Amino acid sequence: MTKKTILDVSVENKRVLVRCDFNVPLDDAGEITDDLRIRAAVPTIQYLLEHGAAVILCSHLGRPKGKIVESLRLDPVAARLSEQLGVTVKKVNEVVGEAAAAAALSMRPGDVLLLENTRFEPGDEKNDPDLSRKLAALADLYVNDAFGAAHRAHASTAGVAAFLPAVSGLLMGREIEVLGKALEAPERPLVVILGGAKISDKIGVIENLLTKADRILIGGGMANTFFAARGYEMGDSLVEQDAISTAADLLARAGSILVLPEDVVLADAFSAQANAKVSLPDKVEPGWRILDIGPKTAELYERLIAGAGTVIWNGPMGVFELEPFAKGTFAVARALAASHAMTIVGGGDSAAAVQESGVADSIGHISTGGGASLEFLEGIELPGVAVLEDK
Ligand code: ADP
Ligand code: MG
Repeated sequence: MTKKTILDVSVENKRVLVRCDFNVPLDDAGEITDDLRIRAAVPTIQYLLEHGAAVILCSHLGRPKGKIVESLRLDPVAARLSEQLGVTVKKVNEVVGEAAAAAALSMRPGDVLLLENTRFEPGDEKNDPDLSRKLAALADLYVNDAFGAAHRAHASTAGVAAFLPAVSGLLMGREIEVLGKALEAPERPLVVILGGAKISDKIGVIENLLTKADRILIGGGMANTFFAARGYEMGDSLVEQDAISTAADLLARAGSILVLPEDVVLADAFSAQANAKVSLPDKVEPGWRILDIGPKTAELYERLIAGAGTVIWNGPMGVFELEPFAKGTFAVARALAASHAMTIVGGGDSAAAVQESGVADSIGHISTGGGASLEFLEGIELPGVAVLEDK
């Protein structure tokens, strides 16, 4: 599982093609509303520049589906990255082609070039070897630093590695190291907290972690399907009928590893203005729905987190977007922050909840990959990682 990183190879006087995850949110005016992903890419780029490389960057942005979409050009990324690096990032308007090749060939150490949105090329998502070969021809070394796209076998995330030596960047390297250790050699007890809307998104994660974790604490909408499997009436709660039998099977196999909420917060509408009350999970009346874990459950989870050696958290405990139902999620966020354990947060909404709760700086590792971190936790080998050279 240990993969070479840029620290393990010489980059001096090389042209290095770096696949980044610059898939940033844009507003209607095309302005970047959150540049976390750009900032996260800076250490790798800076390291390469300081060690005498010329750096060719590429990334996808949004879903242009193999066509040029003017609003998804990477020019705003080039501008923001230039500010962050203190170096002018030159941008070309194509991924591969004569202009890209000419720009790449004229580069000197210390130069930075950004290629156009890789998904303007239909060959990217198809993992077309022809596109991979053309991308590879621009450079001497391939660096994958796009953990957020590592679960996709695309030309720019995986295919290109067939034609160039391939190693991970610093961001990708840390993701693999932290998540890998948590799964393979965690400080124990390993406590996993799983929430979010749907159990069907996370069945693979539960399956894989059932044999690895000491406790799996369940919250969020997915708890409802487990309750339904126990035969509880769920009122208007979100329940996945299709997954009830799977949930029953997991409950039967999990023993004491799987922990369900002892109490829940009910609402009589899906709204911040709804009437709300704390209830036992088997006392949900018609017209009411579960929107958060209750205070006793929050306390229990806080205690189990405090006693953990490693904590992995994916999925909010409730509908934290509505203030009255954010308490359970924020309690878990604060418990992670206060813990002495190695704490890991994966998942876009969970990461957002941690930011909102103001304790992000006290979390050990906030993964930059939503889908990728989930697949990693499922035990699936990510294509963008598999193609990198072993140490
Ligand atoms: P992540 O992005 O961290 O992986 P998910 O996307 O799986 O998390 O789930 C996040 C969503 O789950 C949030 O939008 C939240 O409102 C929703 N959610 C949490 N608890 C409930 C609940 N009890 N009922 C309905 N939706 C819920
Ligand atoms: Mg999500």
